Amino acid sequence: MKQHPDLSTLMSYSSGTLSLAFSTLVTSHIENCDHCKEIVQIGNELGASMMENDIENKDKTEDFNEFLNKLNNKNNNSEIKEIDFDLNSEVPASLQRYIGTDLDEIQWSFFAPGIQKSQVKISDKSNCHLTFLKIKPNKKIPEHGHKGGELTLVLKGAFEDANGTYAAGDIADHDTSTHHEPVVSSKEDCICVIATDGPMVFKSMIANMYQSIVRI
Ligand SMILES: [Zn+2]
Repeated sequence: MKQHPDLSTLMSYSSGTLSLAFSTLVTSHIENCDHCKEIVQIGNELGASMMENDIENKDKTEDFNEFLNKLNNKNNNSEIKEIDFDLNSEVPASLQRYIGTDLDEIQWSFFAPGIQKSQVKISDKSNCHLTFLKIKPNKKIPEHGHKGGELTLVLKGAFEDANGTYAAGDIADHDTSTHHEPVVSSKEDCICVIATDGPMVFKSMIANMYQSIVRI
């Protein structure tokens, strides 16, 4: 794991102010990232002490499933039932409630040549969704900037952009000023999942056309 969410993103996560889409991807990342898990725990402890809330560290004794359920429900005030996670799946536990445990079961639709897309609604209460992309090797995603923030979590394969290489489990954390042109660098298709604050702003007319059609 080399690419992590920004510290500000982790702090926002820790304080519970991230959107459901963002927090879902951050949870998916920290499931397997001790580095970020530690930062979030420190953030939690800071928050707890600031509120003079002396919840004991019972977490240390609970099993991993409980830990994940707790993380998942942290920013998720709905009455989502606890589920049994498949910890051997290539799908992070935090995403399993939305797409199941098998990436092959995702229902893809055409997005652009070499790129397939699947949009998954993750809340009944709002128009909150995650966008999954499946991209062929050496394929570029059209260059785009963002009106808001964007998180991209790699599930399979890898891509690279100006900031480096992103492999399974890595998160690309882009703010509004970022313009980047990710290229799939793995031999297999790259499957990633994207959460955005605002609509992506594609740079080219063709991309704009795609955007108007598929509303990523
Ligand atoms: Zn991390």
